[in-house]
Parts: sequence; structure tokens; C-alpha cells
Amino acid sequence: MKSAKSILIALTLTLAPLYLISPPAALSDCGGDSEDCCKAKDEKGKDNKKAEEKVKDDTKSNTALLGKSGVNPDFMDQKALPGKDFYLYANGTWLKNTPIPDEYDKWGVLNIINDQNLKKLKNILEAAKANDKAEAGSNEDKIGRLYTMGMDQEKIDSQDLEPLKDELAKVDEIKDLDQLQKATAKLHLKGVNAFFNLTSGQDFKDSEMVIGQLFQGGLGLPDRDYYLNDDKESKELLAKYEKHVARMLGLIGEKDTEKKAATILKLETAMAKASMKNTDMRDPFKIYHKMSIKEIDELMPDFKASTYLTEIGHENIDSINVGQPDFLKAVNKLLKEESLEDWKTYLKWHLIDGTSPYLAAKYEDANFDFFGKTLTGKKVNLPRWKRVSQTIDRYMGEALGQLYVRDNFTPKAKEKAMHLVNALKDVLRDDLKTLEWMDEETRKNAITKLNSFGLKIGYPDEWRDYSKLQIKDDSYLANIFRGEEFEFHRNLDKIGKPVDRNEWFMSPQTVNAYYSPELNEIVFPAGILQPPIFDPDADDATNLGAMGMVIGHEMTHGFDDQGSKFDGKGNLKNWWSEADLKRFKERIALIETQYSNYKVGAGTNFKGKLVAGEAAADLGGLTIAHKALKNLYKDKISEKDENGFTPEQRFFLSFAQAWATNIRPEKERMMTAVDPHPTPHFRVNGTVANMDSFEEAFSLKDDSSASMMLPSDKRCRIW
Ligand SMILES: [Zn+2]
Repeated sequence: MKSAKSILIALTLTLAPLYLISPPAALSDCGGDSEDCCKAKDEKGKDNKKAEEKVKDDTKSNTALLGKSGVNPDFMDQKALPGKDFYLYANGTWLKNTPIPDEYDKWGVLNIINDQNLKKLKNILEAAKANDKAEAGSNEDKIGRLYTMGMDQEKIDSQDLEPLKDELAKVDEIKDLDQLQKATAKLHLKGVNAFFNLTSGQDFKDSEMVIGQLFQGGLGLPDRDYYLNDDKESKELLAKYEKHVARMLGLIGEKDTEKKAATILKLETAMAKASMKNTDMRDPFKIYHKMSIKEIDELMPDFKASTYLTEIGHENIDSINVGQPDFLKAVNKLLKEESLEDWKTYLKWHLIDGTSPYLAAKYEDANFDFFGKTLTGKKVNLPRWKRVSQTIDRYMGEALGQLYVRDNFTPKAKEKAMHLVNALKDVLRDDLKTLEWMDEETRKNAITKLNSFGLKIGYPDEWRDYSKLQIKDDSYLANIFRGEEFEFHRNLDKIGKPVDRNEWFMSPQTVNAYYSPELNEIVFPAGILQPPIFDPDADDATNLGAMGMVIGHEMTHGFDDQGSKFDGKGNLKNWWSEADLKRFKERIALIETQYSNYKVGAGTNFKGKLVAGEAAADLGGLTIAHKALKNLYKDKISEKDENGFTPEQRFFLSFAQAWATNIRPEKERMMTAVDPHPTPHFRVNGTVANMDSFEEAFSLKDDSSASMMLPSDKRCRIW
């Protein structure tokens, strides 16, 4: 389902899934010496051993596919010039010889690790399915049964539209606006994306407390720009979307589908116009408007928040941050201007749109034809087991994660990663102490912020409790609805309570990482801590180019265009002197300009303001990791290895190789429109183009052989 799970400004390494679901359960700390505890310790010891062996095996298979950690000369195109296109120089041969599998829209090192992880999840799920001794109602029992339901294509097909029938009938029964809003509230419980999203999040200005977060929503396409862009390609895509809406409406038995699809386009375009731009949404000050329920009722007198909260069973919520008040006003106006019948069609469209991946093949395939093929260029859908595994990861991520880390993450990896993070933190602290452009007051605040960084590695200390989530044998979709409802209430139940600092916003198996400015913490799930990104058996230097950059990336997010607006306690507050803020913004502006000037393969340019934060974190991360490398190697920094590379060259190459990725043009276009991360090619070239140390490491000349490099006065130097 496409609803927002949690409003969290999570500054991630790659685009987070639409659903930012949090992870699993906790191996509690064995503090005592009771018998149980010792038993647990023994079990843990055995598990660790098993995990070490398992990890070794997986390392082998990763090595075959991806090359060993560090630099892989087979990836490179020695004919390319490092100063002209470093990404191609580092990866040209790999890019040429590694086609994108039909079921993917991009294929790179991170995707391959992710794909291998899916196989590990499959093993866990197959075992859970086969285990008839699992205690009824236990997590293993639940994931096993959900997997069984999801894999039973025959049953799903034979049920056809039956699992959705009641919901469609309820929409048909709506007689007036009052009933429309009540029905919308009930649909939100089931994860249907209509009008807006309500979830919870930290109060930006009181970081100890959780409040409600009400944000714009209700569009079928990924962003407002899809409706409003004027170029030929965008218009063609919009026409295809309209056809797709008509097709889906036809599948659920609607008449006059072309006319109705045109109506949906009209309604969604009006909502798109009223939506805030994704570049503006990066500014936390612009999306913070804490209001009482009465104030929200005044914004939307015809769609009362008070009624809504009663319908969803959360009438106790008394204040909410409204991300985009103007959007709510516009929706209220639209509700009255457009006919009730049209809004009923709108709800039905979003019902089938959100649920088709869990229905019979004809609905799922039709959905894939547009969202998979047309929008992102995939050729075929993922095999069923991968889709179901991802779905279970979304709804029971920590239940799956608890089993995943048992076999796939070792204490050694955790210890090594911790060591690397601390080393980089020290470098960043030293750097902050000596930055020329920062005055003493700001410097003090920055160091305070760094010192209070929280760190999470591998998996949560406390696993999420899924006891209230029921898995039944009725239909796959009915379980998805229950999963949505469980998540919805879990999120809203946090409102009005102190922040739970133990919570994770990614599952342990996720191949990604994040920094949360509100929690002021950096988080590295077990999923990303594996070769070739990270190898506990490799030396620190080898790990610095790939994983060191990732860690530095997350750390410097604390000081990017968004992160710099939150203090060490996670409160939205300016802690910069005016002069420093000006100097900082000037530096970020250089990156905005740099990326706005890049033309991406599919023909559009990056939105500089959208990608500046992530690009700044890439640059910050690589700069900090490079300083750590220099500290480590000292006078050995120019000693060449058996391939003729110096440690610095290997460092930059392993960074570039970690991002080797082939992307379909459709996906590239989509990323440019909505993803705050630049595409991998530009993540690599755009980052090193700013670095004097890169220029020196490859002895680049100041001529056309180094055309990728920025002129010295255009280089961004923050760290
Ligand atoms: Zn990031």
C-alpha cells in the first residue's frame, strides 16, 4: 500500500521504500546469572558460530558476483580517463558486461546484495512455512502462514475480487460528504492513499515528544510534478496513466471508464497543484505548523478532523503538525466543488490501486504494466516469492529480522563496524575543531551535536511486539489490511507519549542506512554491513572507501541542508551564527548549481535543491573517510599495491565501485523527479569533482583530460 507509514526526516543512503516500516525484536541483554540466562548464552554462542560459518559462505558467493572488498580491476575500463569520467574508469567493464535482469529497473552492487538478502529471507520463510511445530501465534507461525497465503496463487486467483468486494460496496453506499469522510477514515485504517495521510512523528520543536503528523497525499503518481510538467514525455506518461486508471476501473466493473479516468486525472491534478513541491518539503520550517484539532477543523470545515479521529478510534489526539495547511484548505474547497459521485470513483480508484498487488493475477499484472513497465522500465514482475518476501518484510520486518540476524550477522561484524564509526567520528571532531570558515560559537555547538550522536548497528536491542497482529486463513489481502491497520494504530498510539529512542525505522535486513535529525542518531542495519561494502575480515583501509564513505555520509547528514537545522537534542532550532550560516549556505549553493547543471541520461537535469543534501553528505562522507585514510596510512600513502594503485587510489576506486549500477532510462527519469539522491554515475563523479585530494591521488592535469573536475573556485569545501 502506498500510504506514509511514519513521517520521519530519515536521511538515507538510497531512496527509502515508500513504507518506512520499522524493524523487529530484541535479544534482551543477559544481565543476570540465572539458569535461563546461561542457557540463553549457550544458545547465543552456538548461533554465533553458525552465523560466522554462514556469513563466510555468503561472502564467497558475493565475492564471485561482485569481486572482493576493495578494488576489483575487472570492473574497470582502463581506456577511460579517471579525470574525464571516473565512474566509467572504475566500472566501465562491469557496466558493459552486467545487464539489468528483466525484473529490475536498476542493477548495481547494492541491488545484488539486496537480491541475495531476499534469498536468505526466502530460506527463513520456507523454513517457517514447513515448521508445523511453531507455537500458534508466535512470530514464526505468523510469518510462515502469511508466506503460505501469499504464495498460494491458485487460491488468490480463485478468490478474484471477493476480498475487496465489501470495501467497494461501502463506497457505493456513501450518500453525502459526511459519509464520504467517515468512509475515507476507515479506508485510511486499511492503508488506502486518499486525500492526506495521518501518522506520528517527533515534534520538531519538542524532540522528547511524539505528535500527530498530517501530510498531503492522495495522488496516484509518485509526485505532483508528474501532473504538472509541460514537456512532451511527461504529457505522454500522463496519458498512459489515464488509460491505466480506466483499465483498472474496468476491472472492478465500473462503466464509462474513460470518462471516469478523465475525472480522476482532473481531481488528482487539482490536488497536485495544491501540493507542496518536494524541494520545499526538504525545509523542516516549511512543514511545521502545530495546530489544535479545532484549528484543523477550521482549515477543513467540511472534512472535520474531530470526526475523522473519532472514526479511526483516536479521539484523544489533541494536537497535530499539519505539514501543508494550504493543501488541506484546497482539498476542502475541492470536496464541495466536485460531485460526490466523482469522489466515490476517486476512492474506488485508490482502493484498487493500492490493493491490486495482493489480488488475482489479472489485477496484479495490470498494475505492473503501468507502475512496473511504463513508469520504471521493468520487463517482468519479480518472481512471486520475492514479492511476498518483500511484503512480509514490510509488515513483519522485525519478526523476519530477528531470524535473519541470527544466521547472518556476527558480533565481530558489529564490533568492527563500531570501531570504524568511532574512528570516523574522531576525524569529524578534529575536522570541526579546525574548520577555518566556522566561528567559535558555532564550532562549539557543532561539536556538542556530534558528541551526542546516537549510534545503532545491526539490529534493535528490543524487538517489536507483533502479538496484536493477526494472520488468518481468509485471504492474502485481508491479512494485508490487518497489517496496515496494525501499523496505523501502532504509529498513532505513540502520539502524546515520549519518544521511544530504541525504535528502528528500517528492518535489520535492509541494505541501506539512515541518519535521523530528530533523534540525532546514525543507524546501520545488518543488511548493509556485508561484502563488498563492508568486510569484517578486511583491514580498515579497505573498508574506508565503501563503508567509511557510507558512515561519513550519514554522519555529515547531521550538518546538511536539513540536518543543520536541528540541534544535538533533535530540536528544530538554529544553532548557527548568522555569518556561519551564510557561509554554509553559500557552500551548499555551489552543490545545488553543480547538480542543476548535470544533464542526466534520460534528458532531464537534476533539481539542485532536491539533491543538494544527499550530494553534500556524499562529499562530506568521502572527505571524512579520506582524512581517516590519511591518518591511518601516514607516510605509506604512496606505496603501490600489486595492481599499481596507491592506497588513495584504491580508496577512491572502491568508493566508485560500490556504486556501480546500470539503470533503465525510465527509472532514471523517475529518480531525477523524486529521489533526493543523485543517480550513481553523478554521485561518484559529482563528489570527486569537488575534491583536491582526488586530483592529487590520480595526478590529474589541468586540461581536457580532467574535464570532469570543477574549477577550483566552484568546488564545495565544507569539511
Ligand atoms: Zn543520505
